[in-house]
Amino acid sequence: MRPLSVPELLTVWERGLAALPFERALTILSVASPESSPAALARLSIGRRDANLLQLREWAFGSELAILAACPSCRQTLELTIPVSALRVSLDPTRDPTGAPTSESASDLEDSLMLQDYEVHYRSLNTEDIAGCAGLEFAAGRRKLLACCVTDARCQGRPVSAEELPEDVARKVVEQIAAIDPQADTRLDLTCPECHQRWKEAFDIVSFFWAEIDAWARRILQEVNVLARAYGWRESDILALSPVRRQIYLSMVQA
Ligand SMILES: [Zn+2]
Repeated sequence: MRPLSVPELLTVWERGLAALPFERALTILSVASPESSPAALARLSIGRRDANLLQLREWAFGSELAILAACPSCRQTLELTIPVSALRVSLDPTRDPTGAPTSESASDLEDSLMLQDYEVHYRSLNTEDIAGCAGLEFAAGRRKLLACCVTDARCQGRPVSAEELPEDVARKVVEQIAAIDPQADTRLDLTCPECHQRWKEAFDIVSFFWAEIDAWARRILQEVNVLARAYGWRESDILALSPVRRQIYLSMVQA
């Protein structure tokens, strides 16, 4: 995996405009990871996918994130600047320091549990699973995701399907699937400065990074428009300028 260039970020934005969030995530990763097949990227656990997106976001827009959150008690809006490092749940020894998966076989995190008469083997959730549930209503989607993640289930040694697991066993399996891949569910501990309410705010790197790419792309296309009109330069030449030089030329045009 490597940082996205300015033209690549624009390509990602154009391809992602009419896409679903999980498709946007895969588009970003596949452009940044030409060494990995799209199928392998789709099988990365959601936590590993999100760790890679966090790394790409840091390379593209820096190590701090500006976050808005509403206090659930008094509705006061908090404006926060947090470091990317605060969102990294744990260091994963199977990944190299660039954040790239070291092999395709490293895409699944696996574990098992024994509860009552049941022994269940399960793996982490991935983007391929989510793609397979697009359009399903919540309960059906939840059942299908569980069936994807349960790789083997037995009751007193007899094979059973994920559908046959009792509700309390299924609930425990769902909890454990989340526990083996904590980066998939990132939450920020926040305290309201007005009413001192404390809460955990969910953070979704896919929607956050996409919103930033969208705002950035629309701004840079406006800049291309201004500079192309003023100087007659081609889009590729303007995009090749460093941000500093682009801003200086813009300020000259607009002076
Ligand atoms: Zn409050």
